[in-house]
Amino acid sequence: MKNNMSPIERCHAAIRHQPVDRVPVSAMAWFIGARAGGVGTKAYATSGEKMAKGQLAFLNETGVDMLHPMSDVGQMASGWGTVMRYTEGLAPMLDAFAVKEPEDWEKMVALDPMKDGRMIVPITAISLMRKDPKGKVTSLMPYIPSPLTSATHVRAMEEVLVDIIVNPEALKKGLKIIADTTIEYANKLYEAGADGLLYATTRASAEIVTIDQYKEFAEPLDRHVLSHLDNHDGYNIQHVCGVEPFFELLSSLPYTGGINWWDRGSNLKIKEAKQKWGKKTCLVAGMDQTTTLMIGSMDDIKNEVKDTIQQGFTDGTGLIVAPGCEISPNTDFAKIRAMMEAAEQYGKGK
Ligand SMILES: [Zn+2]
Repeated sequence: MKNNMSPIERCHAAIRHQPVDRVPVSAMAWFIGARAGGVGTKAYATSGEKMAKGQLAFLNETGVDMLHPMSDVGQMASGWGTVMRYTEGLAPMLDAFAVKEPEDWEKMVALDPMKDGRMIVPITAISLMRKDPKGKVTSLMPYIPSPLTSATHVRAMEEVLVDIIVNPEALKKGLKIIADTTIEYANKLYEAGADGLLYATTRASAEIVTIDQYKEFAEPLDRHVLSHLDNHDGYNIQHVCGVEPFFELLSSLPYTGGINWWDRGSNLKIKEAKQKWGKKTCLVAGMDQTTTLMIGSMDDIKNEVKDTIQQGFTDGTGLIVAPGCEISPNTDFAKIRAMMEAAEQYGKGK
């Protein structure tokens, strides 16, 4: 094992199931970057310079090993006409959906990531962050939604679920266009300096769709997108939000080396995940962003990291300690630092 690994080396080794000097720590720090950098809501979401400033300020405050630079979920969707609402102090929200009628799926066209929507914002932010001495050695895996997840950003999720049953062919045409744009966008993010992607398969959970629906409407496109990425190192991490994640299916997707999920709130706890899939995929989990990180004491946070390490780091690799979803913009920076301190204290390599 190499001592004093850089953050990016540490994260990549964990994903490859190679020994690490200590367990890496990640944070899905999106809108909190605006607060860290003292940047307004709209400026942060619409300017790559401002996003880079905010993300680097967060990095300086916390020292995490991995970032997922982003502001909100609408970078691609706004290119198709989804309207955002910007309120100072709050994360941007999807306000009006682009696809209003099922026929609108068939009118969608592939987007240019350099011109359409706000895809240029994270692309610019990543390239600027890579020029920073700390940004250069930190793992930067920007969020990119999978086609089915994007579909729920251009049309209300309940309508998409109806379309799966009532308008499957129209929906599939839209999904194919979304997949083509996703590939272009992902490759521009790599070109800008991303060393991987946080590929959001957020709808791959049984309380949202059935496994057969996921296999029909999402999995083939996930495989298509992941197989057409320029970067086949496999450092991409999937992100699933739900409480009944399709872990078996997700862990079989190509060119992704890790899965981030809400182990503290879903029906899949880290101990079971380590036993069943720990050799197949890197577990990116362990910190409850909804309670412990928000209202827990420093000791609560350190104990949760310790517990995660005891259950998920049994072989000295294959774990990145992380919250299960975006952290609240109000999260105390000192609490993220407490995660780092606990990783140093309890998560030394073997
Ligand atoms: Zn999530």
